[in-house]
Amino acid sequence: MTRHDDHSNENRFATIAVGATETETHPHRGGTNDVVPPIHLSTTFEWASGANANDHDYSRESNPTRAVLEEQLARLEGGEHGLAFASGMAAISTTMLALVPPGGRIVSSDSVYSGTEKLLTELAAGHFDIDVDFVDARDPENVAAAVDSDTDLIWVETPSNPLIRLYDVRAIADVADDHDALFGVDSTFASPYFQAPLDLGADVVVHSTTKYLNGHSDSIGGTVIVDDEEVFERFAFAQRVGLGNMLSPFDCYLVARGVKTLPARMEHHEENAMAVARFLESHERVDRVYYPGLESHPQHDLASEQMFGYSGMLSFEFDGTPTELEAVIEGLEVFTPGASLGGVESLVEVPSLMIPDEFSRGKATAEIPETLVRVSVGLEDAEDLRDDFRTALP
Ligand SMILES: *Cc1c(COP(=O)(O)O)cnc(C)c1O
Repeated sequence: MTRHDDHSNENRFATIAVGATETETHPHRGGTNDVVPPIHLSTTFEWASGANANDHDYSRESNPTRAVLEEQLARLEGGEHGLAFASGMAAISTTMLALVPPGGRIVSSDSVYSGTEKLLTELAAGHFDIDVDFVDARDPENVAAAVDSDTDLIWVETPSNPLIRLYDVRAIADVADDHDALFGVDSTFASPYFQAPLDLGADVVVHSTTKYLNGHSDSIGGTVIVDDEEVFERFAFAQRVGLGNMLSPFDCYLVARGVKTLPARMEHHEENAMAVARFLESHERVDRVYYPGLESHPQHDLASEQMFGYSGMLSFEFDGTPTELEAVIEGLEVFTPGASLGGVESLVEVPSLMIPDEFSRGKATAEIPETLVRVSVGLEDAEDLRDDFRTALP
């Protein structure tokens, strides 16, 4: 499936991805005719007053390299405004701070990234007295039942980490509308290439750019994209004035560089993921495979409807003991055991073995099976990826 969808009447996705660095806010070919936007390290800019005022005066508030990336990300998501953050967690925590007052209410899907869970349960609830409800949002009725007129923010991550659950963005956006709540979607696992939550009714889209957007496992970053002017102003104030958690010019350059190949990479991630998922599904020591592109995924129809493709993340349950699973992971040679995902190299993570303190703590969120393996399928040869599991599995 090739994504040709454009959000408006401008160029199609891949053309925007490659060419979007030449933006209105930063006509970088002016002056020295660079084809690639330069890295502006200056923290401060000569102040011109009145009608000649610069676009930029101090790099915490705005920076030319960051402005290029922010405009590029906004265009890819089909939103009006983008903000680039120092990490995905900086983007998510700023969302909570900008949109939810102390004593406010958040309703969240019960399968979310472990950092988001900790932010919600420990910082938001513990520090800001925010009431957080985790619900099984696979049924939008459960969201509707938990939301009331005091709810400030509904939050889902789709597809979710690490259970690869999906949430119906359009249906949950309707619930948010009915209750005048804002609706935020962590779309990291899909990337802007495979999912456009703003078009489905979300108010806020968040990505950890550390993952697919940068794509090369060499930059930690995050982004928020919004349409509404007033919501954007709340984010801009929180980030640029209060928190100062923006992405550095060098990292902005790296992410903008990564984005140019996002369409090509995502097509290949998906193709390889499908090959690995089908192989694992056929293996007798694999209990279940969670990949939205498989007909056996309980939400395959929703995936086909609200996504443009199935992306490169899957999980599976190994049929055996944790000790046997440890040997499987040790036997892998192409897949590297490690945190993170969305880079060109294939990674595996076993939450129960690799983050045992998180795994064993009394979690507020959906239970993760003990032999669950999360797989970020990279861009190596698909046959080598299949062979690696073929050899390592008993
Ligand atoms: C990695 C990740 C985050 C956190 O992003 P960082 O860049 O590590 O701070 C948030 N949400 C999802 C879905 C992630 O995979």
